Amino acid sequence: MMTKMDETSLQPGAVIGILGGGQLGRMLALAAAELGFACHIYAPEGDNPAFDVAARHTAAPYEDEAALSAFAKDVDVVTYEFENIPDACLEFLVDRVPVRPGVNVLAITQDRISEKTMAVENGVGVPAFAAVNSVADIENAIENIGRPCVLKTRRFGYDGKGQTIIRDGDDLAKCFADIGSQPAILESFVPFDLEVSIVAARDVNGKIVAFDIPENHHENHILATSRVPANISAQAGEMAMDIAVKLATALEYVGVFAVELFVSEGKDGAGPLVLMNEIAPRVHNSGHWTQDACHVSQFEQHIRAVAGLPLADPFRHSDAVMYNLLGQEGAEWGALATKENMCIHLYGKAEAREGRKMGHATQLSKRKD
Ligand code: AMP
Repeated sequence: MMTKMDETSLQPGAVIGILGGGQLGRMLALAAAELGFACHIYAPEGDNPAFDVAARHTAAPYEDEAALSAFAKDVDVVTYEFENIPDACLEFLVDRVPVRPGVNVLAITQDRISEKTMAVENGVGVPAFAAVNSVADIENAIENIGRPCVLKTRRFGYDGKGQTIIRDGDDLAKCFADIGSQPAILESFVPFDLEVSIVAARDVNGKIVAFDIPENHHENHILATSRVPANISAQAGEMAMDIAVKLATALEYVGVFAVELFVSEGKDGAGPLVLMNEIAPRVHNSGHWTQDACHVSQFEQHIRAVAGLPLADPFRHSDAVMYNLLGQEGAEWGALATKENMCIHLYGKAEAREGRKMGHATQLSKRKD
């Protein structure tokens, strides 16, 4: 469907609809406001920190067609901050208003098998994998993939939920039960040196730019810190960029996305190996440092892309370490705020449940390279 927006970019005063009311939606809405746009956040009832900073919000289920219809009428473009939006919701919206990134992007990236299959078809390396639906399937797949390997639910996994490592001697029936006996993917366990991500943007004309690559450290499967620049070779960095370009081009992506990558630097003259773990079709926690260390944040870059504006140069002026403030750590922000060059971002969430992302702090230092 050709719409006015496909030919022209949105002008200040236009309304950007955002599906999802969490901290990513909140930071997108703040960035949109800086560019003169209004945001309308759509999310189910709950603690929605994005509501506090947006011009308008709708609290309704993703299945509520009357509410979705009113939302579509109010906005000029729809984007999302959360990838587990029901397909039917986006299908409903896309007939009424442009959705960026497109509906196909969510359909592919919501399923780890279709995501990795698409990656392989486009020349992107991934761990060896197989689709498995039963204990017998797992047994067969292990013959090729070997142990250790990682069993993950195909859909709705995040922050390490719905996955388990299968080691020598582990009981396969128990492993399958541990992930809820659901359709799953079995992957080889990658003995990587470092986890990094590439956070990049593609505009409506196909131009792609990427932020510098952070290295990411997890605790209990949740991102704890992102540090930029990553301690990887220039060649591994180029390979990461090549992966981002291949994926964004294949998906005809519009907006910011992140690709989580496993990097192994080749020993004894062998080149590095860079494998895709997963694609986040949205702004990403490992890109939060861009707010303080770059001329443009990932949030503004995303808003520019979905509004049809030119992308900004993602130049990084400082080195940075981003610390997630999880659960009770959120209460420590006062002490952090006294540290030199520490930039505090709090999400305004009411309840500090264990592991819940309450805010982040980014410490800047002079750029060394
Ligand atoms: P995911 O939910 O796929 O992002 O996985 C969560 C974390 O588990 C990753 O950030 C890795 O640290 C680890 N992991 C996932 N898949 C693999 C794999 N195939 N090999 C080694 N570690 C993995």
